[in-house]
Amino acid sequence: MPELPEVETIVRDLAPKVAGHRLRHPTLYKTDVLRGVSRARLLRTLDGARVLELTRRAKHLVFRLEGGYRLVIQPRMTGSLLINRPPLTPDQRRYAVLTAAISPKQLLVFRDVRRLGTIHLLDERAWVTYTSRIGDEPLDPAFTLDRFRAVLQGSQQAAKKVLMDQRKLAGVGNIYANEALFRAGVDPSRPACRVDRASSARLYRAVRSVLNEALTARGTTVRDYRTGTGGAGNFQFSLQVYGREGEPCVRCGTPLVTTHAIDGRATTFCWRCQGAGAHAPGTRGH
Ligand SMILES: [Zn+2]
Repeated sequence: MPELPEVETIVRDLAPKVAGHRLRHPTLYKTDVLRGVSRARLLRTLDGARVLELTRRAKHLVFRLEGGYRLVIQPRMTGSLLINRPPLTPDQRRYAVLTAAISPKQLLVFRDVRRLGTIHLLDERAWVTYTSRIGDEPLDPAFTLDRFRAVLQGSQQAAKKVLMDQRKLAGVGNIYANEALFRAGVDPSRPACRVDRASSARLYRAVRSVLNEALTARGTTVRDYRTGTGGAGNFQFSLQVYGREGEPCVRCGTPLVTTHAIDGRATTFCWRCQGAGAHAPGTRGH
């Protein structure tokens, strides 16, 4: 699933190509992705609208349009955004959800293999509500250790669940939550409010460093994710726990274990380095 580094990579690839251009001939191939907007209103609003900027909020792509609207695309599991040369090939067209020409030879294409992504069209007021429901951006300079501590202190839920809770922290999903907790040596199932000061400082640094490194590597491709230029990311080669169940811990050699005890998502960790044995019922190291 595209998380912060993947969506940010797409944005950095495409923003210079779309900013300042008008969207022409918008075409919606599937309507089940729309949220709170009809096909007719979406197409009417997009047609001829100039894109002022393309940015990211959490795991979402945000097109700020002339006229005060924002087109928000949540790629979710299998969505991606590309620029193709028209006409689309049958293969490119197969998963196309929304397209719009940004020049005679450039077609902006949101494609989504399984169509789990969503499209929102928000006016200024709806945008303020939308963004206010999402937590702090972890790479924002305003996101200090104190703010992170306050997030942890405010919840009795598992530390990993809090990291992934978009209302509390923006953009971190399963891959980077697993990686950050391992780097920091924090038990994923530990109640967030009981993560001690030293551990929360390590976790704060780990969240930011893993996101920054993944951004430098242009994201993690484990399945469908593609950058804004259609390539794969490279951070999958640097993952230390995600997807490595049964493989030796890079630090101590103990086989990594996976549990689905936290929110039904795969949590892979080293019980020895992360002290998880005592906190995760149903998981055992040996
Ligand atoms: Zn270990």
